[in-house]
Amino acid sequence: MSTLLGRPPVADIMLDDEQSAARAEFADFVDRAIVPVAGDLHRAQRTPPELIRTLADVGYLGLPVPREYGGGGCDAVTLGLLAGELGRGCSSLRSLLTVHTMVAHVLARWGTREQRNSWLPRLAAGSSIAALALSEPEVGSDAGAVRTRITPTDGGFLVDGRKRWITYGHVADVFLVVGRGPDGPTAVLVERDRAGVRTNLITDLIGIRASMTADIRFDQVRVPEANLVGRVGLGTTQVAGTALDLGRYTVAWGSVGIIEACLRASVRYVNDREQFGVLIREHQLVRRMVSDMFADYRAARLLCLDAGLRRDRRDPTALPAAALAKYRASTAAVRAATDAVQLHGANGCSDSYPVQRYLGDAKVMEIIEGSTQLHQVGLADYAFQEFAAVSMGSQP
Ligand SMILES: Cc1cc2nc3c(=O)[nH]c(=O)nc-3n(C[C@H](O)[C@H](O)[C@H](O)COP(=O)(O)OP(=O)(O)OC[C@H]3O[C@@H](n4cnc5c(N)ncnc54)[C@H](O)[C@@H]3O)c2cc1C
Repeated sequence: MSTLLGRPPVADIMLDDEQSAARAEFADFVDRAIVPVAGDLHRAQRTPPELIRTLADVGYLGLPVPREYGGGGCDAVTLGLLAGELGRGCSSLRSLLTVHTMVAHVLARWGTREQRNSWLPRLAAGSSIAALALSEPEVGSDAGAVRTRITPTDGGFLVDGRKRWITYGHVADVFLVVGRGPDGPTAVLVERDRAGVRTNLITDLIGIRASMTADIRFDQVRVPEANLVGRVGLGTTQVAGTALDLGRYTVAWGSVGIIEACLRASVRYVNDREQFGVLIREHQLVRRMVSDMFADYRAARLLCLDAGLRRDRRDPTALPAAALAKYRASTAAVRAATDAVQLHGANGCSDSYPVQRYLGDAKVMEIIEGSTQLHQVGLADYAFQEFAAVSMGSQP
């Protein structure tokens, strides 16, 4: 674990013993099982099934699923620590954790007893992989405008439409599909093996290239009424809202992981490369880039911990805290990765060094789970709420 002046990093002082031990275990796993292969996964644009199995076998895919369903029942901070370590090693695998746990979280919160009993043990064990199918070719940020039709029919629903950019959609066993019914936004589970489901792998993404992201056609797919998740009409506000809140939180942590990876690579490089007769770490402008990266890392990590502690206390401010953490951490990750490439010079432009991968991955973090611009527009509302009392008070 990294240290500052021989002491534990400031952020870690906020962890209890169990959380610190969990982080050490995650870090060790990522160093052994993920860091050595992450570049190959990126180049192959593929996650081998055995690696997904390994993540499942160590219990990480089910870590936040309640214990009664066979999961790890971990707290939000611990989930964040896992997302951070996975993000440090491989953003694609971090995104698997994100989408899979988003669906599990929705089912734990809004699923019927039958859905919880049927799906959560499988998701906890990782014997089934879940994906969130919300975005469409014509619909992204404006999630309420989805066009996929979810129409009531005899004893169930017909799902008809197209979903795009679905992370791990090419290998997922079940999709949480958010669409539109006659009575408003509706969410249903659609199993991959139902007639009318077709997935196509999307390749050549800028980042999270191993994430088996798919374009999916749902052609008059029939699902039973038992597959309805939450209430008809609340598919976006309740179901997608719950999923995206958790997704945002883990993406924030994943972004912190990218910044940490940039720091590790950059510190190693500037301590090794010489120009003008000295190590490049001696040049002031090089030091500035490392200092900024370090400050961004600490600040983003503290925002993530703050969001996690609020989640664990079921504090109503957990939601804006996750949005704030995601906004700050993802934009900082892009800055850090840009500087990491810069510090590596021409080597940073080649894929012989990992920083090129970090830059593409960081850019994706700014687009998913609410783009930077949506947060720039939306976070002001929370500031207005939080500081309204002050501005109406006696202060000038
Ligand atoms: C690699 C990857 C994986 C993904 N995985 C999934 C997944 O698993 N499941 C899923 O459902 N979706 C997924 N997505 C889709 C993702 O959620 C969308 O890309 C995201 O919501 C943005 O939508 P969009 O791409 O259609 O951009 P648009 O919404 O079209 O936005 C385009 C630009 O306009 C800006 N903009 C839009 N509205 C506003 C506004 N009101 N104010 C200011 N600026 C605005 C945006 O910030 C952006 O810069 C994934 C995307 C990527 C790239």
